[in-house]
Amino acid sequence: MRTLVLDHPLIGHKLTALRDADTAAPTFRRLADELVTLLAYEATREVRVQPVSVQTPVGPADGVKLARPVPLVVPVLRAGIGMLDGMTRLLPTADVGFVGMVRDEESLVASTYADRLPANLTGRAAFVLDPMLATGGTLETVIGMLAGRGATSVTAVCLIAAPEGVRRLEAAFPADQPVPVRVVTAAVDDHLDHRGYIVPGLGDAGDRLFGQI
Ligand code: URA
Repeated sequence: MRTLVLDHPLIGHKLTALRDADTAAPTFRRLADELVTLLAYEATREVRVQPVSVQTPVGPADGVKLARPVPLVVPVLRAGIGMLDGMTRLLPTADVGFVGMVRDEESLVASTYADRLPANLTGRAAFVLDPMLATGGTLETVIGMLAGRGATSVTAVCLIAAPEGVRRLEAAFPADQPVPVRVVTAAVDDHLDHRGYIVPGLGDAGDRLFGQI
């Protein structure tokens, strides 16, 4: 697995405002959306294209267009929904699947409660949206589901990662595996606390996007 931590002044600026406990939900949603679009630019660097010719007003021009089959974007419910518009802004023709994962607050073990993914992903790149890579349990499960269904590559887009989660995914998806796995994130933070929160992180991403339930 490869981990890309994006270093850009706009990413740093937006991430800092997201971390701020005084940033209210409407601003938090907008900043998360903008930050995901910046991350998506790098996350899609290896997306497959095919040659195409067009006529400009002046003459023929060789170019490229996204190859088929189109990529699959998978927000992990619930917080991943807050990243969907930011991602599909750059990949408007992508299909969208959904996985629902819930974490037991005592054991921190994640279990699947919804699976709306195509059965066959042969030849397709998959992009998983999950704002917080904490223990890595959720992403290990979702990446495994996508690779198991034939995805050619799986890229997880996360706002913030914890070193513990990165190490877990590196162990689960070693670099010599047939399906390349990448994590694209704005930061790798310090550690997880005893409740499984990323420190300093930004708190509960789902609650900050959508309110407490
Ligand atoms: N999920 C969150 O929303 N925040 C964390 O810090 C860890 C997991």
